Formats: sequence, C-alpha cells, structure tokens
Amino acid sequence: PTQTQIGLMSHEELVAEHERQSANYERLKTEKLTLDLTRGKPSPEQLDLSSELLSLPGADDYRDASGTDCRNYGGLKGLPELRAVFAELLAIPVDNLLAGNNASLETMHDLITWSLLHGTVDSPRPWSQEPVVKFLCPAPGYDRHFAITESYGIEMIPVQLNDDGPDVRAIAELVANDPQIKGMWTVPTYSNPTGAVYSEDVARALVSMPTAAPDFRIFWDNAYAVHPILGVVAPAIDILGLAAEAGHANRVFALASTSKITFAGSGVSFFGSSTANLDWYQKLLGIKTIGPDKINQLRHLRFFGDADGVRAHMAKHREILAPKFALVRKILEDRLGASKVASWTEPKGGYFISLDVVDGTAKRVIALAKDAGIALTAAGSAFPYKNDPDDKNIRLAPSFPSLDELATAMDGVATCVLLAATEKSLGH
Ligand code: PMP
Repeated sequence: PTQTQIGLMSHEELVAEHERQSANYERLKTEKLTLDLTRGKPSPEQLDLSSELLSLPGADDYRDASGTDCRNYGGLKGLPELRAVFAELLAIPVDNLLAGNNASLETMHDLITWSLLHGTVDSPRPWSQEPVVKFLCPAPGYDRHFAITESYGIEMIPVQLNDDGPDVRAIAELVANDPQIKGMWTVPTYSNPTGAVYSEDVARALVSMPTAAPDFRIFWDNAYAVHPILGVVAPAIDILGLAAEAGHANRVFALASTSKITFAGSGVSFFGSSTANLDWYQKLLGIKTIGPDKINQLRHLRFFGDADGVRAHMAKHREILAPKFALVRKILEDRLGASKVASWTEPKGGYFISLDVVDGTAKRVIALAKDAGIALTAAGSAFPYKNDPDDKNIRLAPSFPSLDELATAMDGVATCVLLAATEKSLGH
C-alpha cells in the first residue's frame, strides 16, 4: 500500500493502518528473532582488521626508539613515538598528550573522582566540599558520561545539541552566572549518538566564555576523531591552543582512544591537557599505577607506523561500516519516510544513528521491539538521568550485526515505530 502521512489519515484509514501494522507485528514475533542494536561494538569483521596485533610486537621486539625496555615498570606518560602519532591526529602537541591503558572512560572517571577528592589545579577547594556540583550535558549524549556524573551525585543540566555542537548562547549564560557549574561533557567529532561535529566557532566559544567557576572543565571526548563514514574526516580542532589563546589553558581535558580503531577491549587511551593539568594528573596517577601497559602501546606503534597508517586503517573500517549505515538509512526512508512518523540523523562518521519517533512513543517502540526479539538501547539512555523529556529518542548502533541481521532488525524496528504511532493516534 502507498504510504500516507499518519497525521493526515481519517479515522477509518488510521484503523486500517493500525490493523496492517498489528498484522506485520504479529508476523514479526513469529520469527523469534534475537537481534541486538544496543551498543556500538565493532563487528568481528572489524576486529579482524587488527588481528596482526595478536602477534605484535613479536618475540624480540620490546624496546622503543629511545631504548626503553617496554617490559619493565615506568614511563607514566606513555611511549613518545605512539604519542607523536596520535598528537598529529588529535591536533594536540605531543608534550601535552599522555598515552594510557585501554579505556579513556577510566581516565574520565579518574578525572571526576580526583576533582571531587582533591580539586583541580584551579579549585578553591575539592569539588566534594561544594554544596552542589553541576555539569552541563549536551543531549542526546553518551550514556556512560552521564552515568559517571550521576553516580557521584553531580547534578546534570541538559543543553540542546545542534548539528554544529551545543547551544553556546544558552551555555555561556548558565556558566557565567552559576559557580557551581564545574564542567561539561562533549563529544566533538561524530558525536554519540547524533553524529554532530562541533564547528570551530562553537569550540572557540566554549573555551573563551567567562565562567563563574574558576575551575570549569570541558571534557573534550574525541572518541571518534578519525572515524569518517562519508567524505573526509573533519579535521581535529586545536582545542588546547584555542583555550590557551583565550586565557583558559587549563579548561580542557581532552580524551581519545583506539577502542574503535583496533580492539575495543585492548586498545590505548589518550589524555591531552595543559602542562599544569598533566602535572596534576600524573602526580595522582603515579599513586595509582607505576606505569601503563607499554607492550600494548609498542604493538600499536608497530601496527600503525605513523598517522597515515591510522588513516589507512580507518578506511578499511569505513568500507565495512558505510554499507551498514546506508542500509539503515534506506530502510528508515522506505518504511517511514512518507508516513512522517520519525526523523533520524545522517551522520558522516562515528558509530550511531539517532532516531526520533512520535513524541511519547519511544518507550512503547522499544518494548514492542523487545517482545519481538530486537534489543534496542533503553529508552531515554542518551539523556541525563535517562530522562528523555519527549519520550521520542532511540539510539541505533548498526556496527555489530551482519548486513542481513541489520536489515531484519531495522525492518522490525520500523514496524514497531509505525504500530506505536498508529496506537497513539487512535488514543490507545
Ligand atoms: N567516549 C565515547 C563518546 C564513546 O562512544 C565511547 C564508547 N566507545 C567511549 C568514550 C569509550 O571509550 P573507551 O573504550 O576508550 O573507554
């Protein structure tokens, strides 16, 4: 049947559409699917691109160019050669970039807990001694960021995220007047989950704006800095340089990792910041560890060689991911385009598509999908406190399933979106 806009249907047409989608849904349930679109995990095929890492650095290769024996303790800042490779990709001076262990999320968690317990270099007192600590949360955003701040009782304030970054006017006004706002989460390149890419103007505004808190920190989580799907990669913004130029050298905590480049569980993380912040961080890090896994850093260095090696490797990921993103778009367009019951982002990179369904139906869509064996990210996940004010947002993660599984899952999701939309229009 030709699709019409559900909002324009007569009652009879609506009843007929509801019956059609109910029948589709009952058929879907008989397929007894077990499909998962919840987390942005690399597929086995993507992990295979880095299999060579499993035999690197090799039996006799354990020294870096400076002669450091990577098997031993020490070297808190990480291997200089690997730092240089990612310094180029992240537009962070190598002296300001530290290479760590496998998870940038762990670094973010440390930065928050140490700011709470000790305060930053600019804090009048530890954050935990403040009556309240607040963070700005561009939303939709990354659920694990919000989980960290929520777990420590940091009050989260959602701010609107546009295609070129968050609403800087609203943010500037908030931070100028409220000294309890100590920080902000960002994902500047191909953001999770909308794919937004922060413009240089937005970046400059964020590092330049006056803040009532002297120790305001921007968590610049560049997890997808080198992850284009369409076109060329958005060039990394010299965020530390912009911050220093604006007189706020210590404002930025920059993060990245190879989790979505090599092995998600065994990659290398990076932390970039001002010299004062890095000294503070290393003093505290040195209490926690004698040094990072340098053998892992060395094998990554051998695997990539240089920044162009990383870029060439990412082109292989793109070959696997681009058809998956295109397939999701095509199914959404074919099944939902004309009926105007949904809109979705068309990211040029990263790992996610953000789907907005009819207001008030996201929870219902996710429940319907679950009963049909299709796991979707929990409703509201991309919002602070898992509270999607419009109950409309669903994060889709197309990377892990095969193309066939993805087609089946997305077709099922479209059926659930249509069924929930007709239910709502009929007042069920
Ligand atoms: N930041 C963002 C925005 C992410 O989407 C993810 C998940 N891949 C991470 C951080 C986690 O990174 P890591 O594996 O380095 O902890």
